[in-house]
Amino acid sequence: MEDQSYSQEELLRVRGNEFPGKGLLCPMCKVRIPAFRDLTPQDETRLRTLIQHGRPTEATKRLIDATGCNLPWANIWVLHPDGPHDPATQPTAPCPYCGEALRTPPARQCRFCEMDWHDPEHVYRREA
Ligand SMILES: [Zn+2]
Ligand SMILES: [Zn+2]
Repeated sequence: MEDQSYSQEELLRVRGNEFPGKGLLCPMCKVRIPAFRDLTPQDETRLRTLIQHGRPTEATKRLIDATGCNLPWANIWVLHPDGPHDPATQPTAPCPYCGEALRTPPARQCRFCEMDWHDPEHVYRREA
C-alpha cells in the first residue's frame, strides 16, 4: 500500500497557502486531513488528550514541534482528532481557533473569538 503520510522533508517544502493533497477527506471542511510519518502513536494519544481537555492551542504547538508542519496543517489535524467530521452529527465545522461552531459550513470567520481567516496568509482578529 502506498504511504499516505507526510515526512518532515515533504512538510518543509509545503507553502503557506497549500492544502494537503493526501489523507482522509473531511466532507464538511472540504480538506484532507494530513497524516504525519514522524508522529508516534504515543504522540498522537498525547495530542488527542490535550484536545479532549480543551487545550487545542497547546496540541497545535506540540504537533508543529513534533512534525515540522505549518500552522494551517496543524490546525486541520487538531480539528480532526477522530478523523473526518460527520455531517449527520455536526451541522457546521468548529472554529479552528476557539472550537465553537461556525455559523455556516463555508464560514471563514468566527463570531465567538472574532478571528477571520478568509486569507490564509493573513489571519487576524477583528476588532469590535
Ligand atoms: Zn472537518
Ligand atoms: Zn472562534
